[in-house]
Amino acid sequence: MYDVIVVGARCSGSPVAMLLARYGYRVLVVDRATFPSDTISTHFIHQAGLARLNAWGLLGRLQATGVPPVRHMRFSIADIYTEGFADSVEGLTEVYCPRRTVLDKILVDAAREAGAEVIERFTTTDVLFEGGRTAGIRGLAGDGTEKEFRGRFVVGADGSSSTVAAKVNAEFHRVIPAAGFVYYSYYSGLDWGHHNRIRDEQQFATCPTNDGLHMLAVMRKPDRYREFRADVEGSFQSVFDRVVPELGEDLRARGRREENFRAIRYADNYYRQSHGPGWALVGDAGYHKDPITGWGITDAFKYGEMLADHLHLGLSGERSIDDAVAEYARRRDEESAGVFQLTVTMASLTPPPFFYSALNAVSQSPDYLKKFFAMVAGGYPGEEFFAPQNLEKLYEEVGTPPERRLLTASGVAH
Ligand SMILES: Cc1cc2nc3c(=O)[nH]c(=O)nc-3n(C[C@H](O)[C@H](O)[C@H](O)COP(=O)(O)OP(=O)(O)OC[C@H]3O[C@@H](n4cnc5c(N)ncnc54)[C@H](O)[C@@H]3O)c2cc1C
Repeated sequence: MYDVIVVGARCSGSPVAMLLARYGYRVLVVDRATFPSDTISTHFIHQAGLARLNAWGLLGRLQATGVPPVRHMRFSIADIYTEGFADSVEGLTEVYCPRRTVLDKILVDAAREAGAEVIERFTTTDVLFEGGRTAGIRGLAGDGTEKEFRGRFVVGADGSSSTVAAKVNAEFHRVIPAAGFVYYSYYSGLDWGHHNRIRDEQQFATCPTNDGLHMLAVMRKPDRYREFRADVEGSFQSVFDRVVPELGEDLRARGRREENFRAIRYADNYYRQSHGPGWALVGDAGYHKDPITGWGITDAFKYGEMLADHLHLGLSGERSIDDAVAEYARRRDEESAGVFQLTVTMASLTPPPFFYSALNAVSQSPDYLKKFFAMVAGGYPGEEFFAPQNLEKLYEEVGTPPERRLLTASGVAH
């Protein structure tokens, strides 16, 4: 009998298992994948996420893989251009974009080292119930045999198509339809660093990663999918040509694609009910948003840790476990709301006019640029940054004309 069974062993599942095992609980974590393995996801991690890795003693392992540090970011929408970097966030002054083959293996190994039992190639097919509570899982092992494992608590860390969420009937709320699709791959010959650039309803993002390669990703709206697919290489290049022509030229002249393209139509943005009798959801299983702001991994770490701490309160007998986990879900919903809102706003690729006004003013104020990049890194709350009083001060500082002092998404001008 396990204390906790975790389904899914990547960014959210392995940290939950590791932290609970470090508290001394008997933990099982299963995944249908084997590690190291890739998954469809780019892999930029903000300072707020790296701070969790640091706190867990895993940042050194990541750095030892040779993933290059990033200390400068470039961001633009149409002709509004900003560049800079956040000051230290929880002691971190650089960010990384490690391959998921590298990152996820570090996480799985750390869970195992902490004492969690890890079973790879195990596909969970069902959640077991007894007396109205979850009692374990059933699934297929790698050799095809069906197995059951019993546990006091089941955590679904199994991504956006979560089997656990389906079996416990977790309801969706705040669903916002997906804004697009992405193609990405890995290139040699480029020294661009980090970019996140948007123009004419198309976006690209770039970041250096392991093995001397640059990750290049492009995003377009769903209605462009068919046209894009008809000539992937040409369509991919055309986004760079259109959004930042100099980089388009450089890509053509010096870039060499070293791997296949990966492609995915995004899942919708959503929250799912993430707690119930004997179960919880974490990571993308419980809360998912467009990758445009690169916050999925960071949030998986943050709220994975929060869940582990709340489970500890329950398992140690300090509180009722269901109450403690309900509090985790409530806090996650509250604390993630700003990132969720910023993400769906940017993912539309046509942000509301107030966003342009604010960003345009930000680009003219060194002080607000720092705050902007601190917000991007997770060191300054988005709610505070976009608070009307804060924007009013900004507009005043840079002398924005009164008719362009937009303060809210509904476009209130003063
Ligand atoms: C195209 C794209 C780009 C992205 N770019 C970024 C980025 O730059 N930065 C960022 O922070 N985030 C990014 N994200 C988001 C990020 O990938 C996710 O938020 C993150 O992986 C969530 O981690 P997770 O552990 O919750 O889920 P996942 O990483 O999806 O892991 C779920 C695990 O569960 C396992 N599993 C699923 N079902 C079962 C089952 N029935 N039985 C057993 N195992 C099961 C899977 O094999 C998998 O290993 C991106 C996502 C996409 C799609």
